[in-house]
Amino acid sequence: MKISIFGTGYVGLVTGACFAELGNHVLCCDIDPEKIAKLKKGEVPFYEPGLAEIVERNIREQRLLFSTSPEEAASYGELLFIAVGTPSKTDGEADLQYVYNVAETIGNVITENDRIVVTKSTVPIGTSDEVKKIIQDAITKRNARINFAVVNNPEFLREGKAVEDFMVPDRVVVGVEESWAKEILTTLYAPLTKNGHPIFFMDTRSSEMTKYASNTLIAARISLINEIAQICELVGADIESVRAAMGADKRIGSQYLYPGVGYGGSCFPKDVQALAFLAKKNNHPATLVEAIETVNEAQKKAFASKIIKNIGAVSGKTVAVWGLSFKPKTDDMRSAPSVDVINILIAQGAKITAYDPVAIQAAQKVFGGKISYATEMYDALKGADCLVVFTEWSQFKEPDFENMKKLLKQPLVFDGRNIYDPERMKELGFVYYGIGRK
Ligand code: NAD
Repeated sequence: MKISIFGTGYVGLVTGACFAELGNHVLCCDIDPEKIAKLKKGEVPFYEPGLAEIVERNIREQRLLFSTSPEEAASYGELLFIAVGTPSKTDGEADLQYVYNVAETIGNVITENDRIVVTKSTVPIGTSDEVKKIIQDAITKRNARINFAVVNNPEFLREGKAVEDFMVPDRVVVGVEESWAKEILTTLYAPLTKNGHPIFFMDTRSSEMTKYASNTLIAARISLINEIAQICELVGADIESVRAAMGADKRIGSQYLYPGVGYGGSCFPKDVQALAFLAKKNNHPATLVEAIETVNEAQKKAFASKIIKNIGAVSGKTVAVWGLSFKPKTDDMRSAPSVDVINILIAQGAKITAYDPVAIQAAQKVFGGKISYATEMYDALKGADCLVVFTEWSQFKEPDFENMKKLLKQPLVFDGRNIYDPERMKELGFVYYGIGRK
């Protein structure tokens, strides 16, 4: 099939490259000329394991094209995927300007019948109807009559595992009203679903809600275990024992039940806020949904307070940081908990020296010259008053503890991901603070 993708971010580029890998011809479009210039040379503008090889192969085999022209993309594909950003406005509402811009371009440009416009961006309930209206209005304005469908196909990939998640999905969700469009989407996804991975068809409002409900449930699990961790600290219980035993219950399961410094990234914070906004707009008190975000904010602040309380006077102290991105295997710094905590520490007069295996460049855009950057994990520790771990990259899990002790001014570790064992740390001579540990 011929496919256009609007937006070459984490979702758009993975979608485009993977559809090309499955034999389709794909044109990926982005209005950011720098991104497209890199992609045309086969360079992926962000870190995502396994993606560069697929991009490079499909460019070479001429199934993957790039363009900065939304108009060219609108006229290229039979299927037109919208994968642009839907960031939060200040009140939590999803900002749909980028989605609507693309819809208008499509409405102004398409000439052939039976184009299928697919919203892959995470969008509030009712957006597909609005996209349909915008396209129809633009078509009507130029006195044309063109048959098209608008489908919602939310994306569930996780950064760091995006290619695998796309190629081997737990499920594919498609909101579609027209039977002819459903048939085409069935064919498009057949390579991914015919070996047992289910595809769920439903109306567009239900598929839009499925995405928000899924992310909100995962965020709720994280906030719940974080709140239980806080209570553990107060009552002398150990969250790691509690979590492991809870997760063994088949009704509960162990995924996303890890206490930490709070969730972040480009999805959970904004999607939880958007669902709360939507509920309130419809006069429903979003009590539980709002609490998820409240707990997450409190978790970050509690971690910062723990550091401040136990490091002594913060002003003038140097804090070494391992891991900046919101999770391992990505350079995405959007809503990373490290940002909030580091900003609190800087405001108190701390100096920060940070190391991250892949996110330094992205972090420089966030912090600029406010913090120092180390190119090697042990370099960050030289002369620092403590170490703070924000991201559970594998190489931080079994470090050279003796070397750490030599490099740090004092053997003080704040572990925001519970990657170390408190007993072992004590035996090794560290003063250790985890999350919800005895
Ligand atoms: P992103 O910010 O990385 O990428 C969006 C891209 O769209 C940018 O490169 C931007 O330049 C481009 N763009 C904006 N307007 C455009 C236009 N008119 N034409 C062409 N390109 C345009 O965003 P992302 O992380 O890929 O997320 C995209 C959507 O997918 C969001 O709604 C997000 O919630 C959802 N989502 C993201 C993830 C994730 O892990 N990142 C997972 C599932 C769903």
